[in-house]
Amino acid sequence: MWSGRTFRNTIVKAIRPNPCWNEIIWHRCIKMDDELLLRYNRQIMMSEIDFTGQERIINSTVLIVGLGGLGSPVAMYLAGSGVGHLILNDYDSVDLSNLQRQILYTSETIDEIKAEAAKRTLHALNPEIRLTSINKKLNDSEIFEVVKTADVVVDATDNFDIRFALNRACVKTKTPMVSGAAIRMEGHLIVYRTDRDDSPCFRCLYRPEDEPQERCSETGVLGSLCGMIGSLQATEVIKIIADAGQTRYGMLVLYDAARSEWQEVRIPKDVQCPVCGTINSHM
Ligand SMILES: [Zn+2]
Repeated sequence: MWSGRTFRNTIVKAIRPNPCWNEIIWHRCIKMDDELLLRYNRQIMMSEIDFTGQERIINSTVLIVGLGGLGSPVAMYLAGSGVGHLILNDYDSVDLSNLQRQILYTSETIDEIKAEAAKRTLHALNPEIRLTSINKKLNDSEIFEVVKTADVVVDATDNFDIRFALNRACVKTKTPMVSGAAIRMEGHLIVYRTDRDDSPCFRCLYRPEDEPQERCSETGVLGSLCGMIGSLQATEVIKIIADAGQTRYGMLVLYDAARSEWQEVRIPKDVQCPVCGTINSHM
């Protein structure tokens, strides 16, 4: 295994061939210990992330609500990427029927509290990060308090009421929300940059009466599709916190796995939205 100065020099050379840059990066390299450099070097090597982006990732807090089919890959990739603090919220326990798609758990964790089992899996993956588990259904004011502490919120729940509450808190605190859904062979992804005035919010797109009547417990869902949508959510979170690439917020991405077809629908901000609208500002 590489270590110490040899590794630092190697990674520095890989990042910038220019000797002037090497000197600058060398000094920033010293701030991160050898193990962290090795752990995150595939990200640091990318010009889109670099040391600046990795430092942002390490200093960030992400709230993941729902530790099921979507929340599992989101949590695994964010933990692996080095998100400094993950807040994990779920009030369910592990069931045998979850294991087909919820990759945080194993046959040995059946009947365990999901938030606790997830915490153990994520700690084993990356002991360098802080993990907070919340094993309860949060009420509106509790959601607001926890959202306030997060840089990004991941909506990976299938509970419509919780989604509305999360959205209200995200709009109020100007916290971006990355939302995903998967059922049968269909997946949805949308990023709400509620920290920006021109972004729609979840309430611009859905009304409470739009609650889907179908749940994956009744209609089924392809496990690998949850992996795809969750991975897309994790990617958008990393882009937001590392300030890498572009976030096409307000764009509903639909994936039909049966036809291998992608579709995109632009969701405009509703100026009369009861949560984020500028005409009627009633929350
Ligand atoms: Zn809105």
